[in-house]
Amino acid sequence: MSTSVAVLGTGIMGSGMAKNLVRAGFDVTAWNRHREKAEPLAEAGIKIASDAKDAVAEADFVLTMLFDADAVEDVMGQALPAMREDAVWIQSSTVGLPGVARLAERAGYEGIAFVDAPVLGTRQPAEEGTLLVLAGCPSDLRERVQPVFDAIGSKTVWVGELLGDGHKLKLVANSWVLSIVGATAQAVDLTKRLGLDPTLFLETISGGATDCAYAQLKGKAMIAGEFPPAFPLSGAAKDAQLIVEAMDYAGTRSAFMQSLAAQFQDAIEAGHGSEDMASVITAFDGGDQDRASL
Ligand code: NAP
Repeated sequence: MSTSVAVLGTGIMGSGMAKNLVRAGFDVTAWNRHREKAEPLAEAGIKIASDAKDAVAEADFVLTMLFDADAVEDVMGQALPAMREDAVWIQSSTVGLPGVARLAERAGYEGIAFVDAPVLGTRQPAEEGTLLVLAGCPSDLRERVQPVFDAIGSKTVWVGELLGDGHKLKLVANSWVLSIVGATAQAVDLTKRLGLDPTLFLETISGGATDCAYAQLKGKAMIAGEFPPAFPLSGAAKDAQLIVEAMDYAGTRSAFMQSLAAQFQDAIEAGHGSEDMASVITAFDGGDQDRASL
């Protein structure tokens, strides 16, 4: 009998991860709050469960890929008591440091092994099975969970054994990713507002020491004004806030990340929450007056 995995949350990331688990030979059951989003996965040989408890009941592994800590706690509050006592919960949603502590505590109450395993990579790596898994868990669990990580990712970084170690590196990496997006938006917007063709900025950095593939990718989307979601703005704003919390916890000044978080929030309030985070460029609106006075 093949090893079974329950995937809870079939959004942008969870759908791709579930399909790669099937391709790797796992027996996969998926559940999603809005069932219609999970149903297309049946074509890939994935069983669709009507509730989270049914999804996890027989599973060797439960993989959560939900929006935030509240969503995970809500769903796992129902599912945890239905899990087999020898099953492992792999928690890959980005939930922040207090979130990891809260969820691990819930797992502990039920005597379920918990693995902190956030991922790096967006829609395409999730679909191609090339995510980077940033794992933190006791070393005796590593061998058991590695086949699951190998199915969803191309590389696992074993960050450490302390609770939240995986998430610490995830928040550091996301602080870098979100900053690149914010800085690219600022530069593209400024180029345009100074009356130049914004592609000149991307051409100017192209191939030089300050160039990077992500700035080119997101910069082109910003110039085209096309934002199909790979990482939705709502998720970027949530993560910026989790990074601010981690910075405050670590005792470092968070003014820069707070300003970026506010910029993401402004774009959400203007109606861009479900678009890709590149749409943060819309929050630079309001500079017309400055341009007029040049
Ligand atoms: P998404 O497409 O927006 O999916 C979010 C998922 O969470 C959906 O399954 C949604 O269910 C579910 N959900 C939200 N609130 C819920 C609630 N209160 N109760 C139950 N389910 C709830 O997001 P995603 O991009 O796949 O991201 C999932 C997680 O991965 C997030 O923590 C995100 O930060 C992280 N992540 C994302 C990326 C990325 O590039 N997209 C990369 C790395 C990590 P419905 O469909 O029913 O709304």
